[in-house]
Amino acid sequence: MLIFEKGQKGRGSGILPACDVPVVMPGEKDKRETDLHLPEVSENDISRHYSELAGKAHGVNDGFYPLGSCTMKYNPKINEEIASLPGFTEIHPLQPKETVQGCLEVIKTTEQYLCEITGMDRMTFQPAAGAHGEFTGLLLIKAYHESRGDHKRTKIIIPDSAHGTNPASASMVGYTVLSVPSTGEGLVDLKALQAAVGEDTAGLMLTNPNTLGLFDKNIDIITKIVHEAGGLTYYDGANLNAVMGIVRPGDMGFDVMHVNLHKTFSTPHGGGGPGSGPVGCKKFLADFLPSDLFSEDFGDKDKETSIKSIGRVKSFYGNFLIVVRALTYISMLGSGGIPEASKHAVLHANYMMSQLRDIFTIPYEGNCMHEFVMSLSDLKKETGISALDIAKGLLDEGIHPPTMYFPLIVPEALMAEPTETEAKETIDRAVEVFHRLYERAKSNPEALHEAPASTPVTRLDEVGAARKPKLRYNFQDNGI
Ligand SMILES: *Cc1c(COP(=O)(O)O)cnc(C)c1O
Repeated sequence: MLIFEKGQKGRGSGILPACDVPVVMPGEKDKRETDLHLPEVSENDISRHYSELAGKAHGVNDGFYPLGSCTMKYNPKINEEIASLPGFTEIHPLQPKETVQGCLEVIKTTEQYLCEITGMDRMTFQPAAGAHGEFTGLLLIKAYHESRGDHKRTKIIIPDSAHGTNPASASMVGYTVLSVPSTGEGLVDLKALQAAVGEDTAGLMLTNPNTLGLFDKNIDIITKIVHEAGGLTYYDGANLNAVMGIVRPGDMGFDVMHVNLHKTFSTPHGGGGPGSGPVGCKKFLADFLPSDLFSEDFGDKDKETSIKSIGRVKSFYGNFLIVVRALTYISMLGSGGIPEASKHAVLHANYMMSQLRDIFTIPYEGNCMHEFVMSLSDLKKETGISALDIAKGLLDEGIHPPTMYFPLIVPEALMAEPTETEAKETIDRAVEVFHRLYERAKSNPEALHEAPASTPVTRLDEVGAARKPKLRYNFQDNGI
């Protein structure tokens, strides 16, 4: 039930004092033509309404959430405590800089830590998400080529094991995307890459570890091939959870990259934001960064802004409180804890994969990094049960399904990422559930086709939702 439907005329939560200034009414032309439908509900009802909604959602605090490519790790409560300190929350971005030195120091310190972790030289915190970071990073690449009068570089090379946002971001910046296939091992086909590069190559975007959960062992050769052709290299660092504190994209030959603070660095995500996708680059690109950098003494940032800058990609310093959370996380873990977290993330994924090998096909040989991909095509052929059916069955068991039907190069794919913050017992229980669903696929496939049974809504008409989406609530139809 929507909150509008719970409203009763005349009820409300109005506790505002009587107006003690002259009332000014808008002129005729500024008045609404229709009534504004605001729900009239008591504070008690509002409170229950939102608690009920929260209870219907599944978050990391509710249960296992092995959503591949998304790193749904636990968000430590201390991050929230620090981010709610009044010195961070009760500030205004237009305050004089001398009054927010502590906040600027938070950004500066986080920049230094993240540069140390990634091997980059400078970083902007404006981008509000990973995809926004990709867009920003590609603008840096474009600005670089243009600053050299090199206008013929119109293509971005992207392997077919990349995250879907990579080609989308390249298109948004105005580039043509050139796809490079993967080898049987799931790595970039070097011959195809060599054939793809040329005078029109603006750069390459590499998701590493890639969406198959594999670290490309030829990574230094890949960056070399692109550089020799005059292109720049972009590292999609959303999967940094597999490698942080162990290897650095900057040392592998990457010029630009983004980091997802709302994945690797434990800040909450999943509800559409706010996120943070800082973009780091090597020194030779720093002048092109957005205009939010400031000097060492945290002084006047405007003086620091280079005329070569691509300008702003978001207001002020981006989603600042997310940066506070990430800095808290990095400081709590320290230089010992950061690589430890990655090692456990990789260990957990390999453990879970090893426990599922007997029922699902693992399409690429060898160890995985922090996530792995399974193919359920054999199960589908045998029983008619698809990856979607298994995912829906998991919902009844209180487990959030893995990512489905991604990457596109694996049929009936499920991509799981257990993360380092789950206990062995949790992973074991999930493995047991997968085995149970596998048995059910064979013994009672009809029941699985009907799943889930315990959620607020059961099977949705997905075609209908895509073709005839209802994007607007109609008050009249609902008698309000
Ligand atoms: C999540 C993700 C992105 C996009 O990040 P958003 O914050 O969701 O925009 C890009 N690349 C990879 C590999 C990802 O996992």
